[in-house]
Amino acid sequence: MPRNEYTIRAARAWIDGRFQPAQVDVADGAIAGIGSSRTRRRRVVTVPDDAVLLPGLVDSHVHVNEPGRTEWEGFRSATLAAAAGGVTTLVDMPLNSLPPTTTVEALEIKRATAAASAHIDVGFWGGAVPDSLGALAGLHDAGVFGFKCFLSPSGVEEFPHLDRAQLHAAMAEVAALGSRLIVHAEDPALFGAEDGLGRDYDSFLRSRPPESEASAIDAVIDAARRTGGHAHILHLSDGGALPAIAAAKAAGVRLTVETCPHYLTLTAEEIPDGGSEFKCCPPIRGEVNRDLLWEGLLAGTIDAIVSDHSPSTEQLKRNGDGHFGLAWGGISGLQVGLSAVWTEARRRGVPLERLIPLFTTGPAAVAGVEGVGVIAEGAPAHLTVFGPDDPHTVDARALLHRNPVSAYDGRRLVGRIRRTWLRGRSVFDLTEGGAGAAPQYRRPPAGLLLTAPTAASRRARERTSA
Ligand code: ZN
Repeated sequence: MPRNEYTIRAARAWIDGRFQPAQVDVADGAIAGIGSSRTRRRRVVTVPDDAVLLPGLVDSHVHVNEPGRTEWEGFRSATLAAAAGGVTTLVDMPLNSLPPTTTVEALEIKRATAAASAHIDVGFWGGAVPDSLGALAGLHDAGVFGFKCFLSPSGVEEFPHLDRAQLHAAMAEVAALGSRLIVHAEDPALFGAEDGLGRDYDSFLRSRPPESEASAIDAVIDAARRTGGHAHILHLSDGGALPAIAAAKAAGVRLTVETCPHYLTLTAEEIPDGGSEFKCCPPIRGEVNRDLLWEGLLAGTIDAIVSDHSPSTEQLKRNGDGHFGLAWGGISGLQVGLSAVWTEARRRGVPLERLIPLFTTGPAAVAGVEGVGVIAEGAPAHLTVFGPDDPHTVDARALLHRNPVSAYDGRRLVGRIRRTWLRGRSVFDLTEGGAGAAPQYRRPPAGLLLTAPTAASRRARERTSA
């Protein structure tokens, strides 16, 4: 096989935590060297001066839904949408597919499905549900990156939530395994009645108040503190919970937190009644709350920005003609995360430099995916080119995920992914699409299935390298 060798030249490449001019040598899927002035007779790819070279982004929160609800989303469509958004590594959530990833057998089914059609690298979260407590070691040993649980109903009956005692048990079990527990933190005791909901967004918002998030987050912090395990707060919406999170971190509790582009860019004030494409849980709150999230982001309290891409069919998303109690809850934003957040960051005078770690090393650390999210010698050549000044208007029908629904439909954004390489091979190239058309792909590469390093595999590696 001929060696796939070339050099990427960029005036602004994200290396060692800053933008700098660089030549990145790619050979056999890896970054062979950086900064050499010799190019030998290599092919040279030049990144235009109005664009930046970034490491491939990492998205540790994606619901692919295949197998079982493949009409909602599948590995091929999700991974091509991810690549078009600059993402080269995703970690798939354990629910909404059938079976849910709560057993080793289910994980093997997921892996076989992904192996056949994923075009970026994919890892898996396992599920901690009442029935799997006490038996998480099997999935851990099989290489899941950690365990997801809900503290309120998940939306699908095959993935029940944990009560407070079960949360503590799960946290203790995960701590003993050296894994992590990632938590959907809403307290159903503080919810309003969903059956009174109609098309009115304010009543949906009132049905899941910020106190329900704050209460559940306090419970997670308490469980992490008592067990010494790593807890991760998923999709933080309530900016009012940030002081408690910051205090716990400062006190040494092993806690990380993510938020999502929709919480950082959209507000309750602009969501129309019946706008069920904006329905997600916890909900998108008001403008003042959004400011608090940006403060927490700039203060360093927030560790990662991830999509929580959770689509369904168009029919389910519009169920009940925009009735917020009936429509599926989940935002489809896998392809536009960096563009959306960057558009809002610019408006606030926040430089691109502040965002990059939150889309790369941040989510990689949250999930424990090693060696990704950086441009460094020896790392896989997962790279993406972002044009920070490129204007575009989102058209949900042109996005590459399966169902043409998106909360970002019609939004005018600034900044767009132009190209993405997976292990040195082109997996997305905007210039290959015509103007206005969805980009086309020639033979996209196949992604790898990622396995989390377990304590046993780490010990084995240490023995080999000693
Ligand atoms: Zn989710």
